[in-house]
Amino acid sequence: TAKWIATPNRTREILDTYNIFFKKSLGQNFIIDVNILNNIIQKAGIDKNAGVIEIGPGIGGLTEQLAVNADKVLAYEIDQRLLPVLENTLRAYENIRIVHQDILEANVNEMVKQFFSYEQPIHVVANLPYYITTPILMKLLRESLPVNSFTVMIQKEVADRMAAEPNSKTYGSLSIAVQYYTEANVVMHVPKTVFMPPPNVDSGVLKLTRRQKPPVQVDDEDYFFSIVQACFAQRRKTLRNNLKQHFKTADKVKISEALDKAGIDGARRGESLTMQELAVLANTFYQLYK
Ligand code: SAM
Repeated sequence: TAKWIATPNRTREILDTYNIFFKKSLGQNFIIDVNILNNIIQKAGIDKNAGVIEIGPGIGGLTEQLAVNADKVLAYEIDQRLLPVLENTLRAYENIRIVHQDILEANVNEMVKQFFSYEQPIHVVANLPYYITTPILMKLLRESLPVNSFTVMIQKEVADRMAAEPNSKTYGSLSIAVQYYTEANVVMHVPKTVFMPPPNVDSGVLKLTRRQKPPVQVDDEDYFFSIVQACFAQRRKTLRNNLKQHFKTADKVKISEALDKAGIDGARRGESLTMQELAVLANTFYQLYK
């Protein structure tokens, strides 16, 4: 263990040995700093009982630290070239299972049942491929996996949007989509220098803690999310105008009536509405006009 994978020298050595070049199209930016990895693992609250799901092990830098700190690690890697590399770099660890699959296509629930024990707490910990951060997280959230938390390195700007509060610049439908399922916090900002190669964008670690149940009661989830989309569609427009745009066929009277009934001023901007207000608004439209 004197020679961790996630160091500049060992990483370079592995890449040279296997003649691996970085694939930008797969978001390959490997972490070469063991301290950062251990901070992430600590923020995730991983201990020896934990089962961990990792997306994109790369050459195994984070996977190795997870294997040392957790009970078991299940890792999904799409890049065929990395399989023989992982087999070698992680050969000392018996608690890792690598699955060669696109995470977006994977039946994670089925694998979780097979691989982890029934009562084990499960966490997602990953340095995500940035080009598909949102699809990955939304897939895993919507599938209602038995996962307690997600601690993920992502583009800082996306982390900020997911964790944003009402009236902030980055608050929008993505904040609501994520916060409907989880409590979201940005727990670390990470310098570009800990990656090989350094990414073009700033990075941060987002921690999502699953809620037992959504913080608001909605009559119909799909309808709720479509109203949320509509409210944030054009940031400079008022709520009333965004809703008019959404309900193209509805008359103004209907929209005013629903806004009145919900007790929400149509002159406000979407970005000022709390999730609670958005839920009331969606439920009102749903009950009046669905
Ligand atoms: N975990 C490593 C680390 O921290 O050094 C590598 C992280 S790198 C940012 C992202 C990894 O995700 C790459 O290994 C890439 O090949 C993999 N990847 C990209 N798209 C994927 C997908 N759809 N499914 C599974 N893995 C994917």
